[in-house]
Amino acid sequence: MTISRESRPKASNECGERDEAAGARALAPALALCRQEGIALTPSRRRILEILALEGRPLGAYEMIDRVAETTGKRPAPISIYRALDFLLENGLVHRLASCNAYLACGHGHAAEEPIVFLICETCGDVVEATSEDLRGSLAELAARAEFAPRATVMEVAGRCRLCAGA
Ligand SMILES: [Zn+2]
Ligand SMILES: [Zn+2]
Repeated sequence: MTISRESRPKASNECGERDEAAGARALAPALALCRQEGIALTPSRRRILEILALEGRPLGAYEMIDRVAETTGKRPAPISIYRALDFLLENGLVHRLASCNAYLACGHGHAAEEPIVFLICETCGDVVEATSEDLRGSLAELAARAEFAPRATVMEVAGRCRLCAGA
């Protein structure tokens, strides 16, 4: 079982200044994947990815518009945000959480068809991305039996994280 917790560096201070070094660190695994796969990150796609990577928790599209406005001083049109998100989703750089209609950066560089389980804490909102060899095997078998070709496998498990369960 692979459990990976995204680190959550503080995104910005009160006047909206960003810590460049933290941004670069949060983005490092994603940028390595882009180089390896030849994924072209335009400045606007990179900005969206950086906002999500720094946030370390799921953000809705409208929260992202606010963040872009804070950084650039210009309010982007929702369509441009959705276009950038579609591109990042397609390339496995971000994931979408259907239950809360929000997006989360993935710093793990796994294949897009890899099954993913999100463990979502309903108390503190913490989200952990996990997967396992066994899960991959059983899901592949299940799909094969149904003669179904899966495109993406994302599961969401709601509950309480260790910290909240102990509180
Ligand atoms: Zn992922
Ligand atoms: Zn929690």
